[in-house]
Amino acid sequence: MESGQQELQKDNSMPDWSAYRGVLIIVEQRDGAAKPVSWQLLGEGRKLAAKLDAPLMALVMGEDVAHLAEEAVHYGADRVYLCEAPELRAYRTRPYSRVCLKLIAEAKPEIVLFGATATGRDLAGAIATHLPTGLTADTTELDVEPPPSRLLLASRPAFSEKMMATILCKQYRPQMATARAGVFQALPKDTTRRADIVRIESTMREEEIAAEVVDFLRDSGGVQLEEADVIVAGGRGLGGKEAFALLQELADALGGVVGASRAAVDAGWIKHEHQIGQTGATVRPKLYVAVGISGAVQHTVGMSGADTVVAINKDEKAPIFQFAHYGIVGDLFKIVPAITQEVRQRRSVFGVPLGVRETAAAQAQAEAEEAAGAVTEAEAPAEVETAASGPVSAAERGRRDE
Ligand SMILES: Cc1cc2nc3c(=O)[nH]c(=O)nc-3n(C[C@H](O)[C@H](O)[C@H](O)COP(=O)(O)OP(=O)(O)OC[C@H]3O[C@@H](n4cnc5c(N)ncnc54)[C@H](O)[C@@H]3O)c2cc1C
Repeated sequence: MESGQQELQKDNSMPDWSAYRGVLIIVEQRDGAAKPVSWQLLGEGRKLAAKLDAPLMALVMGEDVAHLAEEAVHYGADRVYLCEAPELRAYRTRPYSRVCLKLIAEAKPEIVLFGATATGRDLAGAIATHLPTGLTADTTELDVEPPPSRLLLASRPAFSEKMMATILCKQYRPQMATARAGVFQALPKDTTRRADIVRIESTMREEEIAAEVVDFLRDSGGVQLEEADVIVAGGRGLGGKEAFALLQELADALGGVVGASRAAVDAGWIKHEHQIGQTGATVRPKLYVAVGISGAVQHTVGMSGADTVVAINKDEKAPIFQFAHYGIVGDLFKIVPAITQEVRQRRSVFGVPLGVRETAAAQAQAEAEEAAGAVTEAEAPAEVETAASGPVSAAERGRRDE
């Protein structure tokens, strides 16, 4: 056994795991760029480590990825283990899991977290088969019991997503979990932070690895919801797949992507990869425009982390308005084209450079907020009923409801 783990004690009492301390985040990268979930897990790991009064560690693996070790420090790691080797250039299960197992045996973290991505799931599963410990997959909430128990409370939807289950791993260490992208929040990047970066060796030689990565073919049609700064999402209110063209136009004007509720996906109007919510993606964009979506809890769990939510719905009592910073009550078929036109016009006047992601997203957010205001205040067609005379903040909405 590669880990040197202890056997479960026969009297079922807790083994002595005092040598296992700290939280280890496995940083996922592709072509030298980290997946955002890695920094989100460092943000959450920071909280867990503080409660345990233990170090927050990160493991960076790849070829020419030393810059990511620095970045991991900037995002909160107290110590980063860096393993650079040619055989780690592209992800493959065996060499990556070998490095992880070696580090787990030596550094003895009490908690190890991976992103619940295709790679993270593969790696975590492979490691779990070598260690006599459990793995909680696809968690959406993480917490720890304070010392002395130091137990990881890993929660995830269960029983057809109807309830949350909190899963404990009492008898073994490390406690391991994969966690969904977009659920947790990364700490602000602090480039002044300094911490130890410890180099470790990859012990696997190329001839020992059965799999060879010949090439990566990118699926150009796929939508990257988790990484999008702007999402325009449509629901059953769209009434058919044709109306998604309207949303695509608005998304294009804002430099964003199109998302959907499950109702729209189940109706066959758009592919499942666009679905947001409990059984879809969890997103954390700067701007989320919900169009013809009622705001069922299974949808809002996937988008409530958005910085700004604009909701367009003809029913002023739709629950989505409880989550919206700006609400527009009216017919989406009139409002969406009006906002698209407004955004395009402002872009052509101000010449906003598309493609500069951060700038464009921030600008887009400001424009959509202004455009929402413009529609409700001035340019809304006469038939459009508006909930209010202008953009309604969540706080203001609460006051008006009272
Ligand atoms: C186990 C489980 C998992 C689930 N997972 C998910 C999930 O991941 N994601 C998800 O989204 N749902 C999920 N659901 C489904 C969820 O419960 C809701 O049924 C779904 O979110 C409703 O989608 P909707 O808001 O598009 O449709 P509706 O609830 O039907 O809302 C349509 C809205 O459109 C508005 N509207 C209609 N016409 C117009 C118009 N012309 N202009 C403006 N507004 C208009 C209506 O007023 C209404 O508010 C799940 C359910 C279960 C049981």
